[in-house]
Amino acid sequence: MGFDMSVSAEVRLLCDEVAKFVREQVDPRSRWIEENDAIPDDLMQLARDMGLFGLTIPEEYGGSGLDLAGKCAIEEVMGRTNYGFATLIGNHTGISTTGITALGNVEQKQRFLPKMASGEWVGAFALTEPQAGSDPASMRTMAVKKGDRYVLNGEKIYITNAGPAHVFTVMAITDKSKGIKGISVFVIERDTPGFSVGKNELKMGMHGCTTAPLSFTDCEVPAANLLGAEGMGYVQAMKTLTAGRVTVSARCCGMMDKLIDQTADYMKTRTQGGKRLADHQGLQWMLADMAVARDAARGLTQRAIEVLMRGERGTMEASTAKVFSTEALGRVVDAAVQIHGGMGYMREVGIETTFRDARIVRIYEGTSEIQRNIIAGLLLKD
Ligand SMILES: Cc1cc2nc3c(=O)[nH]c(=O)nc-3n(C[C@H](O)[C@H](O)[C@H](O)COP(=O)(O)OP(=O)(O)OC[C@H]3O[C@@H](n4cnc5c(N)ncnc54)[C@H](O)[C@@H]3O)c2cc1C
Repeated sequence: MGFDMSVSAEVRLLCDEVAKFVREQVDPRSRWIEENDAIPDDLMQLARDMGLFGLTIPEEYGGSGLDLAGKCAIEEVMGRTNYGFATLIGNHTGISTTGITALGNVEQKQRFLPKMASGEWVGAFALTEPQAGSDPASMRTMAVKKGDRYVLNGEKIYITNAGPAHVFTVMAITDKSKGIKGISVFVIERDTPGFSVGKNELKMGMHGCTTAPLSFTDCEVPAANLLGAEGMGYVQAMKTLTAGRVTVSARCCGMMDKLIDQTADYMKTRTQGGKRLADHQGLQWMLADMAVARDAARGLTQRAIEVLMRGERGTMEASTAKVFSTEALGRVVDAAVQIHGGMGYMREVGIETTFRDARIVRIYEGTSEIQRNIIAGLLLKD
């Protein structure tokens, strides 16, 4: 049973449509995306036409208005297709729009969300800096107020979607003396003078989805681009990441579903030593363990969805789901390679690609170590 069972019939229908779309349009282009480290223009347009960029944007601004449960149901579907494409859409409809939806005033929402919903403008979320990764509080990017403008100086690294993005949600310090309460959040448009996007990084996996540094040199933005009040940046970033961690977990569940299906199919067709792989008990147990890991991940993710949907903070549940699901995916993809033998190591069947793609989920949106710090911190709180 997937997350789609906990959403409305309408959202289930949408999941079916997205599943058909990825099967018919994304899967056949997956090898091209992998080899060219790019998303074909025609696929971007098909994704816009399909409404994928607007999935979580409120209906009044042109989107489908999915809540966290709906977003996770879609993530699960997207977990079955090309990881770079799934990340581009997942990041845009997740951490890159959440801040604007949560903190934006009506004018800001009207300015940004309709074009983000149509996919004309892609979004990115920029928190990480060279000196501030696991500890974002040590960021150095400054935003100094001058009249009706803020002047930004600093740099960000590893920013997903930086290649195609037009709208960047950027965290910067407005008052150094206040520590994390002095971090604010801005919306920066790509063509703002003083702002530039660096070279696309070459990565282990996640091909097709760009990752690049950003630089701000006396970059002036109107004060109207501040989201919420000054000082709300850190808290909003943490809230955004808490929900983001749950959606990453949901995508991992979809990835594990596909790996289990592929592996079971292969076990039924490949024969060695006069019997099918499916008839070797050692391999049966490996397959069973893959399903146990996937189901436990799904249970923890479902719990986190429910807690967050009730309006509770859900920090513990989100971190628990993320650390378990991402590590479970690591074990499952490793077993999938092993059961496929030499074939698992070949590009042809795609498991090798998933093996590399899967490595990122233990790093971004908070590493496994940081999730454990969060969980232990809450358990040890006086
Ligand atoms: C492909 C990719 C896409 C990304 N996309 C984005 C994005 O869109 N936006 C964005 O803002 N960021 C993004 N990131 C950044 C990502 O969130 C960071 O890489 C991640 O948080 C880790 O930070 P770091 O790389 O600086 O590692 P470091 O913080 O230097 O960590 C190095 C190691 O030390 C461990 N460690 C650090 N501190 C502690 C501690 N207190 N206790 C125990 N262990 C610790 C870490 O777990 C890790 O194993 C992306 C990264 C990648 C690789």
